[in-house]
Amino acid sequence: MSYLVLARKYRSRDFEALVGQEHVVKALTNALTQQRLHHAYLFTGTRGVGKTSVSRILAKALNCTGPDGAGGITAHPCGVCDACRDIDSGRFVDYVELDAASNRGVEEISQLLDQAVYKPVVGRFKVYLIDEVHMLSNTAFNAMLKTLEEPPEYLKFVLATTDPQKVPPTVLSRCLQFNLRPMAPQTVQEHLATVLAAEKIDAEPGALRLLARAARGSMRDALSLTDQAIAFGAGSLSEAGVRQMLGAVDRSHAVRLVEALAAGQGAEVIAAVDGLRSLGLSATGTLEEMGALLQQMAVLQAVPDALDESDPDAPTAARLAGLLAPDETQFLYSIVLHGRAELGLAPDEYSGLVMVLLRMLAFRPGGVAAAPQRSSMPTTSAKPAATAPVLSRPAAAPSAPAVPARPAVVASAPVARASAPASEPPPWLDDEPPYEGEVLAAEVSVREPEPQKMQRPPAPVPAAAASWVPTPLGDRWAEVVSQMNEAASISALVRELAMQAQCVAIDEQAQPTVWRLRVERETLRTPAQRDKLQAALSELLKQPVQLELEAGVASDTPAQRAGAERARRQNEAEQIIHNDPLVQALMQQFKTARIVPGSVKFH
Ligand SMILES: [Zn+2]
Repeated sequence: MSYLVLARKYRSRDFEALVGQEHVVKALTNALTQQRLHHAYLFTGTRGVGKTSVSRILAKALNCTGPDGAGGITAHPCGVCDACRDIDSGRFVDYVELDAASNRGVEEISQLLDQAVYKPVVGRFKVYLIDEVHMLSNTAFNAMLKTLEEPPEYLKFVLATTDPQKVPPTVLSRCLQFNLRPMAPQTVQEHLATVLAAEKIDAEPGALRLLARAARGSMRDALSLTDQAIAFGAGSLSEAGVRQMLGAVDRSHAVRLVEALAAGQGAEVIAAVDGLRSLGLSATGTLEEMGALLQQMAVLQAVPDALDESDPDAPTAARLAGLLAPDETQFLYSIVLHGRAELGLAPDEYSGLVMVLLRMLAFRPGGVAAAPQRSSMPTTSAKPAATAPVLSRPAAAPSAPAVPARPAVVASAPVARASAPASEPPPWLDDEPPYEGEVLAAEVSVREPEPQKMQRPPAPVPAAAASWVPTPLGDRWAEVVSQMNEAASISALVRELAMQAQCVAIDEQAQPTVWRLRVERETLRTPAQRDKLQAALSELLKQPVQLELEAGVASDTPAQRAGAERARRQNEAEQIIHNDPLVQALMQQFKTARIVPGSVKFH
């Protein structure tokens, strides 16, 4: 017996079973009962909330003949007549689902509309579902307008989209619009419990809570994840197993971090991140879990009675809620959300995580980590805004090879009359000594570091690139990604996928050749992105290639290589500046002078 995935097996088959969309169900049920039928419906909402399901139920409601074959239009399709069964199994000739994402052109729509002039073959109504309708080309929309405005009485349009903003107003105005809501985690969790009870599969409530949260409002994703979790847990769902499968970070790590932040303990924060790194837990997952915890804390701070007794995490959240002021909780939550977006930009995710957490310490209201006062020694770091624009030069575009970029390596030597032991200004300075606190900038140019092959790991491995482990497949992948970048054959989002992917296997024997990529960020692992990257790679290699994406911690991506290369060049530039005779003379002249970390720039 073939196994039917849960998302298909438990697709809602009637309005009663459509979970979490009561407002839509009520409106449609009334319309069907009173036979006040509109000719075009538009269902909007994120993926997996039930747009296709509601369309099929509507098609059944319009075409159901009842168990005895004598029924009419009904809000409660019987599910057993030929029409109901054929629509459920996708065989009903008068119900057509067209995916506009892959059929964007005017030809496909014209073909569909050509069919519309014929009366239904077996049913009462023809029902056309155009999914992802916003993807249609303008000419396709125009071709559809006339029929959409005055369709034959036997034709019903159902349009569905995740992005109603992109649907032309002329189309919107001809449709009755319903917004399907993303489902609350609680709703998803309850539904999963029902499904698993029907499947006779044991599941811990904590496991369901994790799955429901990971589904982000999509019931289909929740059921797919549950399928995976059942396979992963060999038939049962434990919280620990699901947590491991999702790569979700144990709540205790988030608790430890929030405690350290509340106490202003930077060392503890760093130690906690080291712990996460050694366990191989994801930085994104950590911030997600922290976000969930902080959100729970904020609710408890505002409404202490909101404590959910059945939630095992609630008492801890209540205890932590007492450690921070409500505005501090809000503040940390906001940094968590923004920090997640920038993790992908960091050379490696853990250094990105450290920066996000240190930002919470640095900017926390109440200033637990105020900078130590150094009134006697003005430094450039005390006034970064004043010095940064002076010292930095516009970076040369990486693809401009004609002019050898003269690296402007810059050192700023802060000079204060009071603290400078040499009373005479050095000859290369103006006669007028600077007033106290003024910052002098000396600009020193040095030879450009020899261009190095990216493949070679840097001699002193900088901390930021420590997680990078070069591999031969990584060499090959970095090479093709760089060629795709040069050919500009991939868009920004697809490039992000390419840059964050580690090539873990290439099967040249397979037809077509299979390239297997490991990608950590779930948001990058979409089929659409993969298809685009696959097309670009096939074009580059001039042969069909199949891309497979797997989840996991990547350790040799083009992004990590670029980060390592940046760090190596930075390191080199700093060495050059330290060894520069002029800089050494300056440093000797002014004992308090120092090179501001980060002010050395390579170009
Ligand atoms: Zn029926």
